[in-house]
Amino acid sequence: MANKTVRSARQAYQKAEELGPIIPVRPTRLRMDRSPRLEPGQVYVMRAGSVYHPAWCSIVAAKWDSDPGGLLLIAEDTVGGRRECKACEEPLTD
Ligand SMILES: [Zn+2]
Repeated sequence: MANKTVRSARQAYQKAEELGPIIPVRPTRLRMDRSPRLEPGQVYVMRAGSVYHPAWCSIVAAKWDSDPGGLLLIAEDTVGGRRECKACEEPLTD
């Protein structure tokens, strides 16, 4: 069981790498809870994810709650093969 979890995590990382490298940028604007806000031209990604988030959607919020260090900001033009997140059509906040 544990091995299976490790393997799928590794596969997820591998898949994410094929989508293009993640080049994190430093957040310049933070909310009251220290969560990063996007500058124009920036999006959220997660290390093992195959989507990017142009907004603070429920998925980004859940990631911030469970693993804030795993939530990264990148420039929009470095999203590579990642798809736009569907949940971001209904963002929770700006
Ligand atoms: Zn999203």
